[in-house]
Order: sequence, then structure tokens, then C-alpha cells
Amino acid sequence: MSEIAEFTRHLGNYLAPPEVALVERAFQFSESAHRGQFRKSGEPYITHPLAVASILSQWRLDAHGLAAALLHDVMEDTTVTKAEIEASFGKPVADMVDGVSKLDQIEFTTREEAQAENFRKMLLAMAKDVRVILIKLADRLHNMRTLDAMARAHRRRIAHETVDIYAPIANRLGLNALYLELQDLAFKHLYPMRYRVLAGAIKAARGNRREVMNRLLDAIREGFAKAAIPAHVSGREKTIFSVYKKMREKRYTFSQVFDIYGVRVLVADATDCYAALGILHSLYKPIPGKFKDYIAIAKANGYQSLHTTLFGPFGTPLEAQIRTHDMHRIAEAGVAAHWLYKSGGEFDIREAQQETHRWVQSLLEIQSESRDSKEFLDSIKVDLFPEEIYVFTPKGKIMALPRGATAVDFAYAVHTDIGHHCVAARINYEQLPLRSELKNGDQIEIMTAPTARPNPSWLQFVATGKARSRIRHFLKGLQQKESAALGERMLEQALATLKVDPDSITWDRWEALQKEFGARSQLEILADIGLGKRLSFAVAQALTRSAGKAGDEPRNGGATAGKAPPLTLRGVEGVAIQYARCCRPVPGDTLVGQFRKGQGLLVHTRDCITLKKQRVDPDQLIDVEWANDAQGVFDAGIRLLVADRRGLLADVATAIADAGGNIDNVSMERPDGGEVLAMFFSVQVKDRRHLAHVIRSVKRVPDVRRIQRART
Ligand code: MN
Repeated sequence: MSEIAEFTRHLGNYLAPPEVALVERAFQFSESAHRGQFRKSGEPYITHPLAVASILSQWRLDAHGLAAALLHDVMEDTTVTKAEIEASFGKPVADMVDGVSKLDQIEFTTREEAQAENFRKMLLAMAKDVRVILIKLADRLHNMRTLDAMARAHRRRIAHETVDIYAPIANRLGLNALYLELQDLAFKHLYPMRYRVLAGAIKAARGNRREVMNRLLDAIREGFAKAAIPAHVSGREKTIFSVYKKMREKRYTFSQVFDIYGVRVLVADATDCYAALGILHSLYKPIPGKFKDYIAIAKANGYQSLHTTLFGPFGTPLEAQIRTHDMHRIAEAGVAAHWLYKSGGEFDIREAQQETHRWVQSLLEIQSESRDSKEFLDSIKVDLFPEEIYVFTPKGKIMALPRGATAVDFAYAVHTDIGHHCVAARINYEQLPLRSELKNGDQIEIMTAPTARPNPSWLQFVATGKARSRIRHFLKGLQQKESAALGERMLEQALATLKVDPDSITWDRWEALQKEFGARSQLEILADIGLGKRLSFAVAQALTRSAGKAGDEPRNGGATAGKAPPLTLRGVEGVAIQYARCCRPVPGDTLVGQFRKGQGLLVHTRDCITLKKQRVDPDQLIDVEWANDAQGVFDAGIRLLVADRRGLLADVATAIADAGGNIDNVSMERPDGGEVLAMFFSVQVKDRRHLAHVIRSVKRVPDVRRIQRART
């Protein structure tokens, strides 16, 4: 087959021999997989993937991309699996083929749906690997070039889709040559009559034009030669569709549009561009108001050029584009130019990926301005990529998060302050817990409150490093503050037993103590007490000892050493003091406090079995008691055995609610598979009496056999 020989010869221009060999191997593989299949035109099917790969080789796509292009239809049309492709050509190629196949599975039913759904799905695909999009676009280009073989209805549908989906993407990616050709081909199939008439008119007009154009080019080239600025000057032919569009939009006649000549001047650098502008303006008068500087301010798709319109020598307007060779590559190949035209060196997928991400962002910013959000959100719920998800802010901005990310991760991704103050999340307009895992296409709104702050439990479910480190950092600072406050209370009590007024301790004494302890600040010493790293009584003694009364023993010193009065708890204490989950103390219970190294105080009930089993060093335990006015909401556990029946759970829940208890959590198990069911409720109560009231209320429910407070 001569096409393949020509194709590989061309590859030799920019690929190394082993790379060419890989592409050839992909061709052989695809050829044998598609053997026996034919296109509508009657040609062997392999001509299509080969043509697609040829188009891509003009953009100098790398060997993996070309191999994937040759294989792009095998998963769809033959029995070949992704695993087989991966075994033969490696994972990157298999992933790309898979990516293209997934895009192919997208069905367009109505035009609106095509807009909303597929356009965006493709964006997602693109964000993953720009080569998948390039292959898809080249695939579409070849299908459009060979559309004549198809039935009329099919042609119209494909042409519409091309106009709605593929041409805009090509445009946004700056793939200009492709964009123009796709538009022209779509126009041809949507309006065959108009296309034929215009094509004929252009063909007829071109004869006269050529001579005029050549004289024009000669004059311009001479101007540049005189100025000694090396420049490549060429004429620009209008596409049929661009003529049609201008006639329609500006209500021009054919000759008004077509009698405009277009030239393009390519020079070495940006400075020469402005010099070239000067040369053109000295040759022909510029038409006022037509000059545009896209070099200083590039178009959103990266396009850069100087545009000017001149009064040409024969009274006809002359449109000129001036740009550097580099700008020209971007103007023609857009995002592809960034890496396809890179001279030598390895294809850097990361670089290409970053570039693509930037494009996708700007793309989304543009299309989010004019979207129907609900439909938009529904439309992109597709699972194209396993490791990343794409979600939306209320303003329609897209954010990429790792799979498993929760609303809290999202909040921190938006801004650290949003994360620190988030209290609830609305996901797709529904209020859901902050721990909710996000899915592709979710729209997330975070509700914040000024007084809210990070909860240590978030660390158990956040998936991003950013959220984790910000929460840790915040808690550390918070713990320091709260521990210091706790430490101060404990120290005051210790001083009270020594009958020392805390206010009588001077700053000098504190400074002396800091030196003695090697601590950076008073706050650090207080926090150490709160965290159980230092005993409050020892610190109190040291403070009174360093009071300067050399030789004086602190009063009551020896007798009460190491024995401070109990610490009183007022209710909800925060991070430095936490209530143990094993015994869940509530006001009214007898308490004991356990210092955990560097983690503050954990409060248990005095009879907690879990604590007893731990055989804790008595130095780590302190007396704790409830303040008389302790208040708050406390989690208590109750366990019950019931004879299972319909509606029982509801009856128990009602009994708890009737007693003013709030159910936080329920779990159940059937110990021996019989009729007896063990239920566990976590109930929020005010204190011990309240809990007793709840238990009595539940006891009255028929079929409740046994009920007790859960101790572990
Ligand atoms: Mn195809």
C-alpha cells in the first residue's frame, strides 16, 4: 500500500527509527483487526485510521499519539480489548484509544443536548490528555472530508454536530486551519446549493484576482527589501464559508466581500512586526479604525497578530495580518503548536498537560457565561476518568479534585478561610453533610459561619493534602491556646492550695521560670500544664520558690505536693479537653481525667472499664469534677435488647424523642440470628438525670426486654 509507505517516510522527518517502528507496528495491528471491514465508500476500513494518523503527523504528533490514532476504532469496531492494546503498545497508547472510544460512545440526540452534553464531556476528556482531543478532531476532519458517501440525513446530522461541537473546540484550541476546514465542509453539507453557487463564483473570480494579487505581493515584497527587513509575504485565500458568513452578517454583496484582498507578512520578531506595519502604512494608506493589536493583547485562544486594513492600489481594500513565525504556528495549530512544533527533545506530556489545563480553564470561563446551569450540571455527570473528578463552584468555575474528595476538600480548595469556617454544603442544591464525597459534575456551595472552626474529625475523611495540612495547622494553634487556658485554670487551683494569690507572682518570676524550664514563653508553660507535660503543682511550687525568699519552704509545700484540687468542667470544653468515646460521660457522672502525651485531657467516667484495662500511670490521671452549672449537649450510649417486630425502631425513636433526647446514631445486630435484636443508640442528653428519663421512657415500649447505659 503506497499510502503507508508515504506516511512512514514523512514520519522519518521528525521521529526516531524506533518510534517510526512503533507506529508501523500499530498500523499492522490495526490493519489486521479491521481486515474484512469496509467504509461506505467501499475502501478497506484501514484507510480511515491511516488518514487520521496522517493528518496528525502534519501536526507532528508524537509516536504514542499516532499509534493511538491508528488504533482509535479497533475497540469500537472489532473484538480487540484495551488490555490487548496495553500489552502490545503500553498503557499511554491504550489509555488514549480508550479515551477516544469513550468519546465515540456519546450519542447526540437533539442539537441542544449535543451542545450541553458532549461539548463539556469533551472538555473533561481534553483536561486529561490533549492528544485524545487531537485524535478525535482529526477523526472528525477525515469523516467530514469523506462524508459524500453517506446518506443525506446522516450528512446533515454530522454536519450540525461539527458546527456545534467540533469546530468551536478547534477554534478555542487555536487549531485554525482545522477550524476553517471543518466549517467549510459543514457548510457544504448543510447548504449544498449555496455552497455550489458560491464555490462557482469564487472560482470564476479567482482568475482575475490572481494577477492583481501577484502585483500586490510584488510591490509589498519590494517595500520590505528596500527596508532590509526579511519577511515572508503571501496572499490569503478566503474560505467559502468565510465569504458566506461575511455576506450574511454584514449584508454585503459577493463582490463587496470577495474584492477584499488578504495578505500575510511573517517576520522574525515582535519588533519587526511593528516595523512591518510602518512599511505597509507607508506603501498604502490605512483605513481608520481598522487597526488591531493582538500582539500586545492576545486573543483568548492565544492568537497573536497585528491586523490592519489598507486602501489598496486599485481602490479595493487590502487586509493585512502581520506576525512572527512563532505566532504563525500558534495561529495555525494553536495548543498543538506548543509542543508539536518543538524542535527536537522529548515530547513532554506534563508540559502539554499544563498547557491544556490553562486552555480548558479559559474555555470554561467563556462558556459558563451563557449556560443553563441545571442542564449543564446534569450533562457532565459522566465518569471519564478514574482518578480525578471535576466539580463546579456556584459561579460555574471548574475545579479538579482527587477522587474521594469531600465537601471539606472543596471548601479548602476554594480558600483556606472558606475551609476554616465551613458549616454545611449544598451539593446540587441539596443540603448534605460536609463529609459527603463529591462526584463528577457536582455543583457545590459551601455555607460558612464566622464562629465556625475546623473539627478534628474532618481529618478522618479529607482526601487532599491541602485540606489536611490546613486543618492540622489550625488545630495545633487552637490546641496551644486552649491548652494554655486549661493550664492557667489548673495552675490557679494549685496556687490556691498553696495559699498564693496568682496576681502576686511578678513578671520577673515568670521570666526566671521560663529560663529554668527552657521555655520560650509563659504561654508555652501554661500549655504544657494543659497538655499534661508538666504538673500544675510542680509549676506552682517552682513559681513560689523563685519568689526570691531564699530558704523559705513554700507553705503547705510538702504536705500537698502533687495533689491539686479537682479541675472543674463547665460543659463543652473544646479541643484541649475531650470526652472519652468509650464511656461517654455526662454531667452527674463521677469523673477522672487522663493526660495523653501532647494531646490534652481525655475525660472518662470513674468506672470506665476501658480506662481500667489500660493500667494508666497515676501521674497521668487527675481529679476532674463537673461544675454545678455545667451545661451543654452530651453524647451518651444506650444499649437495648428487643424482640423484633414491625415498627419497633420507630416506637423506640419516638420514646427517646418524647423524653427530649436527640438520636445521633443507631446501629443494630442480631446476636444469634434469632428474634432478639441488639440495638445501640447514641443519644444527646443534658445530664445523668435526663439520660435516666430517656431510659425510663424507652423501657415502657412494648417488646423492649432489656435496656442499659452503654459503657464501652
Ligand atoms: Mn474514526
